[in-house]
Amino acid sequence: MSEDCIFCQIVNKKIPAFRIYEDERSLAIADINPVTEGHVLVLPKNHAATLMELTPGDIAAVHQASQKVAQALMKSLKPGGIAVLQLNGAAAGQVVMHYHIHLIPRNPPKDNIKFLNWEIKPGDMKAIEKTAAKIKEAF
Ligand code: AMP
Ligand code: ZN
Repeated sequence: MSEDCIFCQIVNKKIPAFRIYEDERSLAIADINPVTEGHVLVLPKNHAATLMELTPGDIAAVHQASQKVAQALMKSLKPGGIAVLQLNGAAAGQVVMHYHIHLIPRNPPKDNIKFLNWEIKPGDMKAIEKTAAKIKEAF
């Protein structure tokens, strides 16, 4: 629990939310600024800001909960598909600093969401290899 964290306050029912699913470790709520109809956020009940701080148990729990919610979304709303989005750090666009997975039902071209439509262009294989080696060294 982090006192000034809005999602901790939702977990602890200090502020209201549309609770869609919960179990011992995870909670799913409706996003109050839905990108599309049925936009859901799935979060661990324990406070952790980003993927880097999340415990292995909470990673497993929150992803298992996301699968259950995604199945319920498919059954109830029958979208064409579901985009799973998760942002870490302000630079990546994270606004609420309590880990959460976005489940965003998609129905293109009707929903006309552009965020996954980045341009596909071939990379520089030498640069990719060099960067991959740099990341591997950090384990
Ligand atoms: P992110 O940029 O990944 O941190 O996204 C934060 C998300 O939380 C946004 O999509 C907001 O619309 C959503 N959000 C913020 N406050 C609340 C709230 N009180 N209840 C439900 N969703 C919220
Ligand atoms: Zn929190």
